Amino acid sequence: METTLQAQLKRWRHHLHRHPETGFEEVETADYVGGILTTLGLDVHRGIGGTELVANLKAGRSERVIGLRADMDALNIVENAPGRAHASRTQGKMHACGHDGHMSMVRGAARLLAERRDFDGTVRFIFQPAEEHGRGAKAMMADGLFERFPVDAIFGAHNMPGMRAGMFATRAGGIMASEDNFVIHVKGRGTHAARPHMGVDPIVIAAQIVIALQTIVSRNVDPGAQAVISCTEFITDTACVTRFHRTSSSRAIRAAIRARFRRCSKHACAK
Ligand SMILES: [Zn+2]
Repeated sequence: METTLQAQLKRWRHHLHRHPETGFEEVETADYVGGILTTLGLDVHRGIGGTELVANLKAGRSERVIGLRADMDALNIVENAPGRAHASRTQGKMHACGHDGHMSMVRGAARLLAERRDFDGTVRFIFQPAEEHGRGAKAMMADGLFERFPVDAIFGAHNMPGMRAGMFATRAGGIMASEDNFVIHVKGRGTHAARPHMGVDPIVIAAQIVIALQTIVSRNVDPGAQAVISCTEFITDTACVTRFHRTSSSRAIRAAIRARFRRCSKHACAK
C-alpha cells in the first residue's frame, strides 16, 4: 500500500513537473489536481481567486474543520535537464520551488484520508494560485475563500532541500521570512563611449548602488537579527537595478533597512 502510494505521488509530481504553469495561469494544473480529487469522491470547487481549487472531505459528525494548503505555481526559469523524462516541456517555465511536490503531498493526504475516513470533521484541501509573487493568497481571501469555506485551523508546508526525508521542522511563532521588493530606476544621459564627460553614465551609478546596498545588512543590522538584501536583475536599457530584499518579520528592522536603502541610493545618484 505504502509503496503504491509512494509510486503514485511520484507519478503525480512528475506529471506536474513536466507541465509547469505560472501565477494565475494554473488552469491545466487545477484540471489535473481537480480531476483526481473528484475521482476520490471529494466535493471540488474551482475558480476562487482566479485558478484556486478547494476540495472538501467530511467524515463523522463533528463541525470542526481544518485546511491543508498547497501552492500551484511555477517560476519563469528555463529548466536545463537533458535526458530527464519529467523535465519541463514548457520553455522558460519550471517548477523550481517544488510546488509540484506540495500539490502531490496534499493530494496524497486527500487520497489516504478519503480511503480511511478515520477522522471526525471536515478537511478542506486548498490549492492556492500565484504564491511566488504573493498575490494568490490575497486574491482568494478577497474572493471570499474563508466565508465560503471556513476553517478552524489551516496547515501548509514548504519543502526544504537538504532536510532528511521524512523529517519536518517547525517552531512556535514566525518561521519564514517576509519579503519586500524594490525597483530602482537610474536616469542617465546618453553619450559616446569615447566622450564620457559629455554624459551621465547610469551603469556606473547603478553599480555603486548595488555595492552600497550590500553594506546595509553587514554594517547596520544587529548580527543577531536576520536580514538579507539581494539585487537580482540589472536592466541596462534604463540602468535599473532590481529586486529583492528579504528580511525576518521584524517591522523595526524592515523600516530601518528601507530608510538606509533610500539614503544609499540617493547618495550614489548625487555624486
Ligand atoms: Zn515555493
